[in-house]
Amino acid sequence: MLILEFVTAAVVVFFICAYFRLPVLWWTLAYGVIAVLTENVPLIVAFAVIAAVLNISFLRRILVTNHVLAVYRRILPDMSQTEKEAIDAGTVWWDADLFSGKPDWDKLLAVPQPKLSAEEQAFLDGPVEELCAMCNDWEITHEHQDLPPHVWQFIKDKGFLGMIIPKSYGGMGFSALAHSAVVMKLSTRSGAAAISVMVPNSLGPAELLLHYGTGQQKTYYLPRLAKGQEIPCFALTSPEAGSDAASIPDYGVVCKGVWQGKETLGMRVTWDKRYITLGPVATLLGLAFKLYDPDKLLGGKEDLGITCALVPTNTPGVNIGRRHLPLNAVFQNGPNSGKDVFMPLDWIIGGADYAGKGWMMLMGCLAAGRAISLPTSSTGGVKALTRFTGAYARVRSQFKTPIGKLEGVEEALGRIAANCYVMDATRVMTAGSVDLGEKPAVLSAIAKYHMTERARQSVNDAMDILGGKGICLGPNNWVGRGYQMTPIAITVEGANILTRTLIIFGQGAIRCHPYVLREMRAAKEMSGVEAAREFDDAFTSHVGHVIANAVRAWIHGITTSRLAPTPRSGAPELMHYYRFTSRLAAAFAFLADMSMAGMGGALKRKEKISGRLGDVLSMLYLISCTLKRYEDQGRIKEDLPLVRWAVRDMTYHAQHAIDQILSNFPIKWMATLLRWTIFPLGMSFRPPLDARNRDCAQLVLSPGAARDRLTAGMYVPKSESDATGILEAAFQATIACEPIDEKLRKAVKKGKMTPRPGMDLGSLAREKDLITAEELVQWQRKEVLRKAVIKVDDFPQDFGRAEIAEQAQTRSFVRAA
Ligand SMILES: Cc1cc2nc3c(=O)[nH]c(=O)nc-3n(C[C@H](O)[C@H](O)[C@H](O)COP(=O)(O)OP(=O)(O)OC[C@H]3O[C@@H](n4cnc5c(N)ncnc54)[C@H](O)[C@@H]3O)c2cc1C
Repeated sequence: MLILEFVTAAVVVFFICAYFRLPVLWWTLAYGVIAVLTENVPLIVAFAVIAAVLNISFLRRILVTNHVLAVYRRILPDMSQTEKEAIDAGTVWWDADLFSGKPDWDKLLAVPQPKLSAEEQAFLDGPVEELCAMCNDWEITHEHQDLPPHVWQFIKDKGFLGMIIPKSYGGMGFSALAHSAVVMKLSTRSGAAAISVMVPNSLGPAELLLHYGTGQQKTYYLPRLAKGQEIPCFALTSPEAGSDAASIPDYGVVCKGVWQGKETLGMRVTWDKRYITLGPVATLLGLAFKLYDPDKLLGGKEDLGITCALVPTNTPGVNIGRRHLPLNAVFQNGPNSGKDVFMPLDWIIGGADYAGKGWMMLMGCLAAGRAISLPTSSTGGVKALTRFTGAYARVRSQFKTPIGKLEGVEEALGRIAANCYVMDATRVMTAGSVDLGEKPAVLSAIAKYHMTERARQSVNDAMDILGGKGICLGPNNWVGRGYQMTPIAITVEGANILTRTLIIFGQGAIRCHPYVLREMRAAKEMSGVEAAREFDDAFTSHVGHVIANAVRAWIHGITTSRLAPTPRSGAPELMHYYRFTSRLAAAFAFLADMSMAGMGGALKRKEKISGRLGDVLSMLYLISCTLKRYEDQGRIKEDLPLVRWAVRDMTYHAQHAIDQILSNFPIKWMATLLRWTIFPLGMSFRPPLDARNRDCAQLVLSPGAARDRLTAGMYVPKSESDATGILEAAFQATIACEPIDEKLRKAVKKGKMTPRPGMDLGSLAREKDLITAEELVQWQRKEVLRKAVIKVDDFPQDFGRAEIAEQAQTRSFVRAA
């Protein structure tokens, strides 16, 4: 066999075996045939030796993988118990497919579309609609600086605080999707109402009790929480420990004391917490602190670790009630503290057996709440922005044109609409995963980070579109408070910088990767032959995984994604997006492995690199949600511009992140190799076209099914006495009057009438018989609505403080009567 033929055959076999990820035996057989055909005895012998080592696990371990294991053990940094518990928490789902480099699209499309039950829908159409109608955001944020008492009572009475509590304990027993739908709808109306409902249904006393509570704790507290007889809060954060929550200095010491007249085994707890939502009005304080047992009264360790207890806030020594003022958001939030407060051991959630297990409990329950709360409230906010900013951009004209039709405004509006589509898609798919029984640790972090960031971008876009109307606060400003509140969502439940740079890729690389966790466990938690076997299997599979992804990334690169996998039953109009995403997934998986190999433990500190790796993973997830939504909703062609703009934007962003990683990769030769593999023909993903952006903006500049679908599930007030209710009416009236406006414009242009400042153009046109009497009525109504919509609020010198106090008093008298 000629050398050239031999080399060519070897290369072809390499690509085929790697691309299809064939087992080592297949590689061996294929290369064996080539080796035999060369008739070169030394080569055949060398091949036989290598083949034996690769195929006989005992030899492979002795000669290769045991040595790798020894090095790996030396370089693998030790993990603290809290780090381990954080890594182990939750489950992996579609994120594992993305990390594999070969997402199985058919599997994703086979996941049933999450749906609300009739009872859940009825709750949304009934009590939730009613609660929204009761909330006046200006009154809440400016006049009451709290939810008014009757709103609080309604929330408690209707069971809003017990949505995650099963019916057997008197709760609503709602699905994650329904819980999300309720919070989303409330978020389109009042941030304070949404947060006050959201927090008791997220990580806190109820969730912890459901998973870990003793029977007695559950039967006592859950029905009380469900009916709003207890207002819960959960206090983890302290002045010294914010993002690094595991380092809380709050402590308890196990000791004997007198409780209700009897000597009782308990603990003396000292804490100083801040930022605690619902804290100032809470009756039940979920408290995290470190528990010590210096006298070994519990019989074991002295340093037991983080412990969670439920403390009635009327316990002597509990200081609670003062408030912070988080950016005028006015939901209840404040500090609390206690010094040497004695409490019985059975206040520990789960009882004394769960002393020291608090961090594991918190991490175990974090994902479900994080998957819902902030992704949902952000989506609600953006739905409201989409609907109302679109309407305003049609009602408000400058340069004789509705501002939404000016290209600069259109750009921002189209972006809001497409973001809204992506966010709702992600909200539904992530909440749906919780209903499938997942505790999506990594996906909930992706959803939290990206939904809150998209909300920030959208509210900035909306503010730009609204101009002064968004800036002057008052009852007629429906965006200003949301704008003020946006950084709250960015900061809580894992501040965004940390979530992006430490959690998404950091946790993803270990949890979602098919082999890394197995290798780590073999290295750190196993020993002897067991460790050697497990490591050998994981490591050799890992090597195959890297080679396969490198080859796939390169082949998809030189074929510009044409061979990349697609689902069998996907929408034909989306096929190229599936291909692009499959290509990016292979590139991401290869790049992730090479980054871990190249930088090792230092990657954890290289947050700029790991943040960008997290961005690529996140874009892959968000694209998956977007494509799935389009398929689930029945491939509605009218929505296609939103999908197109969003997917193009996200593939472009993913490419940009990869480019930035490669430009900053610390090992230059590796960066070059990676660039050749991932972008063999250069960077081919382009940003979305302006025409697509225009199509997206058009969908929200006109009433219709697409606009309603995009903003489905939000509260739309019907009353014209409401700032957004009148905006909706003005929007409809403006569109209905456009032919009349056109007539007036033409009449002026042709000199049939000459308007002067202050003149009612419609009446003039009627006088000259240019429009009918009905048209005049219609036009004048539109003008009244338009003027009301563009109006901004003004106040007396004292900003009406005296008047507000008087009005509040009158209202409370009226309600009391
Ligand atoms: C309105 C509000 C409500 C809240 N509700 C509650 C509640 O109910 N219960 C509760 O226990 N807590 C609550 N919190 C606390 C919240 O979870 C913390 O604010 C959050 O964890 C961040 O802590 P910090 O504000 O002290 O910021 P810091 O920890 O000081 O962080 C400052 C900045 O540093 C970044 N950072 C920190 N570490 C890293 C890292 N390793 N890598 C990169 N960047 C990093 C952060 O991302 C952030 O940008 C609330 C906070 C607010 C503001």
